[in-house]
Amino acid sequence: MTLERANSSRKWRAGILGATGAVGQQMIQLLAGHPWFTVAELGASERSAGKPYRTAVHWNLNGSFPPAVGDLVVKAAVPPLECDFVLSALDAGVAGPIEEEFARAGYPVISNSKNHRMAEDVPLVIPEVNADHLDLIATQRERRGYTSGYLVTNPNCSTVGLAMALAPLERAFGVAEVFVVTMQAISGAGYPGVPSLDILDNVIPHIGGEEEKVQTEPRKILGRLSGGAVKFSEMKVSAHCNRVHVLDGHTESVSVRLRRSASLAEVREALSTFAGEPQKLRLPSAPAHPIVVTEDSDRPQPRRDRDAGNGMSVVVGRIRPCEIADFKFTLLVHNTIRGAAGAAILNAELLAERGDLPHRDRVEERIAAQNRA
Ligand code: NAP
Repeated sequence: MTLERANSSRKWRAGILGATGAVGQQMIQLLAGHPWFTVAELGASERSAGKPYRTAVHWNLNGSFPPAVGDLVVKAAVPPLECDFVLSALDAGVAGPIEEEFARAGYPVISNSKNHRMAEDVPLVIPEVNADHLDLIATQRERRGYTSGYLVTNPNCSTVGLAMALAPLERAFGVAEVFVVTMQAISGAGYPGVPSLDILDNVIPHIGGEEEKVQTEPRKILGRLSGGAVKFSEMKVSAHCNRVHVLDGHTESVSVRLRRSASLAEVREALSTFAGEPQKLRLPSAPAHPIVVTEDSDRPQPRRDRDAGNGMSVVVGRIRPCEIADFKFTLLVHNTIRGAAGAAILNAELLAERGDLPHRDRVEERIAAQNRA
């Protein structure tokens, strides 16, 4: 446990940017009763700013938001906000410059959006897989002249499930090639998302920009950090991305070609025993099993399996030999929890545990002391 955490009986105050959207709502629901973080500020567009959250939001989740959050007045997504860090679920059309502005103003920015994921000096992190990439924060600050602020990102919702399943295979056997077909839920498109007349009774074989993300992000996540830069994994990924008529939970059919030969039992063992820093550190949102391997021949299924590990576990099933590659399997990831809101919160917990999430008053005291010196 870090000093900052050990000395901290108070909670960190989180600001949520994009608080009214699909992912922002999920963040608010996941943070209800969180042991370390409390929701202190909400930011969204001019359409919502100035309104209490309860009237600004079109709530789409089961249950309701905590009454105290309903009373918070939504602000414009501009610094300063009264919080220690921000979780960003902003529309990708506006996230880039807004997130940079917060980082420049001294806020740790933990983002879901695509805008900064592939920047050379920005960590793209799944805590179980590449927690060490957070060391890039130092390079980023030096390069960009940020003082206490920084940008950390989590991957695209389909990438999270894929990279988590590939990580133990890459470590144990090396992964040479991946062929993946995704069947992605409607909630992945935000609200109001895909019109009902387009998606009911239908499959749409195109999601703008998605295949490029699924093909490149895993290579950065599974890459090695060395000398202040990530050397990408050399694996090749080919993706077909489809939108299907499912509310939550992205299903992916995956074939992999390995670099070293492995038996079916070894592949199953590598997947089912996979764990990382969140499990070691017992972070509040960490599932006991980041990958749950099912033996049932007709699972995983989105309606039945998306809530495994409170939506934080990736469920893998139907592991079997592949006639073209080496092995094939089906995986399921809850797109708004492990694929978005829960991923960002787990990153924040890891940053807090590492001592990279100072309370804002300490930051201000430090800056004042530096100015006096
Ligand atoms: P969404 O439902 O469309 O919500 C977008 C949010 O951005 C809303 O709170 C909206 O506020 C706010 N916003 C829009 N324009 C703004 C502006 N000019 N200034 C400030 N705020 C503005 O989208 P979402 O599905 O939650 O996705 C949020 C981000 O996460 C996107 O970048 C998306 O690509 C990424 N992501 C989503 C998923 C998923 O499963 N949905 C998964 C991974 C990553 P108003 O309500 O005031 O308009």
